Amino acid sequence: MSKNQPARLQVLRAFDITPHMRRVVFGGSGFATLLARNVPFTDRYVKLVFLDPGASYPEPLDLEVVRATMAPETWPILRTYTIRWIDETAAELAIDFVVHGEEGLAGPWAASAQPGDEIHLRGPGGAYTPDPAADHHLFVGDEAAIPAIAAGIEALEPGAQATAFIEVTGPDDEQPLPSKADVAVHWLHRGAADAGSTELLDQAVRAWQWPEGRVCAFVHGESKLLRTVRPYLANDRQVARGDLSVSAYWRVGATEEGFRQWKAEQVS
Ligand SMILES: Cc1cc2nc3c(=O)[nH]c(=O)nc-3n(C[C@H](O)[C@H](O)[C@H](O)COP(=O)(O)OP(=O)(O)OC[C@H]3O[C@@H](n4cnc5c(N)ncnc54)[C@H](O)[C@@H]3O)c2cc1C
Repeated sequence: MSKNQPARLQVLRAFDITPHMRRVVFGGSGFATLLARNVPFTDRYVKLVFLDPGASYPEPLDLEVVRATMAPETWPILRTYTIRWIDETAAELAIDFVVHGEEGLAGPWAASAQPGDEIHLRGPGGAYTPDPAADHHLFVGDEAAIPAIAAGIEALEPGAQATAFIEVTGPDDEQPLPSKADVAVHWLHRGAADAGSTELLDQAVRAWQWPEGRVCAFVHGESKLLRTVRPYLANDRQVARGDLSVSAYWRVGATEEGFRQWKAEQVS
């Protein structure tokens, strides 16, 4: 099966893990296809494929065929999400969705997802795994990055040293981040401020007592991190480019399409 033929999965169960995060567990016939394409990264992600309910698509779904033969207004809309975990024995995988209100497609879809709902997933892709040779691992992000940060922390070996700064709305949005390593997790509460509007993560990282040795950093979340935490780590702390995983996951006021357009403009 080509990568343009996304795996079709069913929602097995869906439940809130915090007031602003909902876990959806998927399974079904497409699980084996997705597993066959699995990648060995803790930040592995998939594209959820949202179909136009009024259009009729090729079976099995093939995105290349869709783009070649169907009107652009019927092309599926894609949304990017981290795989929180895969359970090969149970043939299940979980995705944790930020519930960010009425706007958008994926957030509202997850908020009302029910067992039996179907969705196609393309991927996974990914790039990051904690380097066991690092002296210290630094994780920085907002809610959207919690699944990737949690998977990274979970993968650390016993004896590894790590620090995480995670911005959420309030104490109820904190969640356990199990690990065999020695991890200090700092939850930063934005309270009534809008997501993506504060300087909390930048301030906390700059105030942090920088540890000895080689620090590898994973910095993912709202696009502001690219011009705040990234230059601090790259320039002030001279973290080597290969030791710095920085990625904007979303952008205030932009849908994922608008955000992709903005990213493309940054590199052109
Ligand atoms: C590699 C990667 C992995 C990701 N993993 C996850 C994940 O595991 N869980 C997760 O929840 N998100 C994750 N994201 C972020 C997610 O793709 C975006 O938040 C996406 O825009 C959500 O789509 P939507 O249809 O809900 O909203 P969109 O239609 O894209 O946007 C509608 C509106 O909602 C706002 N919005 C979007 N996301 C948020 C947010 N998190 N908080 C507040 N407002 C928001 C937008 O600014 C816009 O105004 C990941 C992104 C990337 C690139």
